[in-house]
Amino acid sequence: MRWTHFFLLATLTASASGQTTRQTSRQTAGQTLSASNEVGAVYPEAHALYLDLHQSPELSSHETQTAAKLAARLRALGYEVTEHVGGAGVVAVLSNGAGPTVMLRTELDALPVEEKTGLPYASKVHTKDDSGRDVPVMHACGHDLHISSLVGTAAIMAHSKDTWHGTLMLIGQPAEETIGGAEGMIKDGLLKRFPRPDVAVAMHVGNLLPAGKVGVVPGTYDTNADSLRITIYGKGGHGSAPHTAIDPIVIAARTIMALQTIPSREVKPGEMIVITVGYIQAGAKNNIIPDQAEMGLTVRTYKADIRKQVLAAITRITKAEAEAAGAQREPLIEHYEATDSVYNDPALALHLKGALESALGKDNVVAEEPHTASEDFSYFVNQGIPGFYFSLGGADPEKLAQAIAAGTTLPSNHSPLFAPDVDPALHTGIAAEVAVLRDLLNRSAADLKKLTHQQQNPGQ
Ligand SMILES: [Zn+2]
Ligand SMILES: [Zn+2]
Repeated sequence: MRWTHFFLLATLTASASGQTTRQTSRQTAGQTLSASNEVGAVYPEAHALYLDLHQSPELSSHETQTAAKLAARLRALGYEVTEHVGGAGVVAVLSNGAGPTVMLRTELDALPVEEKTGLPYASKVHTKDDSGRDVPVMHACGHDLHISSLVGTAAIMAHSKDTWHGTLMLIGQPAEETIGGAEGMIKDGLLKRFPRPDVAVAMHVGNLLPAGKVGVVPGTYDTNADSLRITIYGKGGHGSAPHTAIDPIVIAARTIMALQTIPSREVKPGEMIVITVGYIQAGAKNNIIPDQAEMGLTVRTYKADIRKQVLAAITRITKAEAEAAGAQREPLIEHYEATDSVYNDPALALHLKGALESALGKDNVVAEEPHTASEDFSYFVNQGIPGFYFSLGGADPEKLAQAIAAGTTLPSNHSPLFAPDVDPALHTGIAAEVAVLRDLLNRSAADLKKLTHQQQNPGQ
C-alpha cells in the first residue's frame, strides 16, 4: 500500500496542531457512531477479542485456534456455522427471510514478523514455519482487527433482524498472505455448498488513512501481482580467473538494471508498473565464481495488456542478457504465483460510498487512489460476484499528521512496528460494515442487481 499524500494533506492541514486533529477526528466519528449506541454495546467484546487474537497470531494455513474462536462466537450469535472449508475456513450463515445474499469476508492469518511495537499486548509468539524454522509471529497486517470487527458486526446484525432481510454470509478466510486461501475455499465448494452471494464485501485496515475514516476506490482497487523466480546459469571458476568462467552474478546485476528500463523506456509513461527484485542469491565465497544465480521478483500492474507487455519484456531481457554474456544455457524463468487485482464494481462502490457517508459522516469517507498492494479477494470477484472492498483508517491521527508534516510515513502493514489505533479504528470498522450490509440487505436481489454494472475487470 502506498501514501496518498495529496488527499491526506487536504483533510488534515486545517488543524492548528496534531492534538486538535485527533480530537476533531474522534469527536466527528464518535458523535455519528454513538447516535444509535449499537456499536458501543458490542465494542467491549470485540475489543477483548482483538487483544486476545493479537497475542495469539497464527501463520497462514495454520489458523486453527483463530478459526475456532471465530466459529464459536458466530455460533453463539445464532449463525449456522461450518468449519474447515478450504483448510481453516469458516462459513457462517444467518437467514432472515427473502432477499439477496451478501458475503462479508475477513482473513484469519498473521505473518512471520517479530513485533517491535512495545505495546502491552504485543505478540511474543514463536512457532515453526513449514520448513521447520523457528519464526516469530505477528498480526502485522491487521487481520486481527478485521476478525474482531466482523464479530462485532455479526452481533449487531443478529440483534437487529428487523432492520434487514435476506441472507448474511460471513466468512473467515485462511491463507490470504500466501495467496491461496480464497481459491481453497472456492475449490472446497464455498459457492456451491452455501448460498451464492449477490455481492461480496471486505475491508482492510492500513496506515494511509487516520483511524475514524474509511476510503473508497471505485473500479480497480489494487494491483495484479505476479511472482517470478529466475535462475541464471553461468560457468563456475576461480575468482582470480574470470576469463575461464561465465559470471552469473554479473549477468544478474546487468539484468536487474535492464529490467528497470521496462517502466522507464518501454511502457507508455503514466502506466502503473512496479518491478521489484526482492532477493538475489548467488555464491558462497569471495574467490569463487558460482555457476548460477537466482533472483525473486514481484511485478505489479493495473491493466491486463500492460501486465502482458511487462512479463514478455522481462523474459526477453533476461534471456538476452544471458546470451550477451555467452551463457551456455538459457535462464529458467518460473512464473509461480499470479493474483488479479481487486476490482470494485464502480456503480456499487459509488452507491455504498453514500451509505458510508450517512453512517459515518461525510468527512469520514474519502475518495482514495488505487493501492499498489494486492490480495486474493479478487478470486471471489472473478467468480462473477460484484465486489466492494474498502479501506479502513488505522493510523493514529496525531502521529499521521506529524509524519505528514515531517515528510515521512508511518510504519506500513507488514512492518514490525505496525500498530493500528484500535480505538476508534475498530469502532469505525464495525459501523462501516453494518452500514454497508444494511444498505445491501434492504432491497430485493433484483434491485441489488440494478446497483451493479458488472463491468469487466480491466486487470484481468
Ligand atoms: Zn498483508
Ligand atoms: Zn492484509
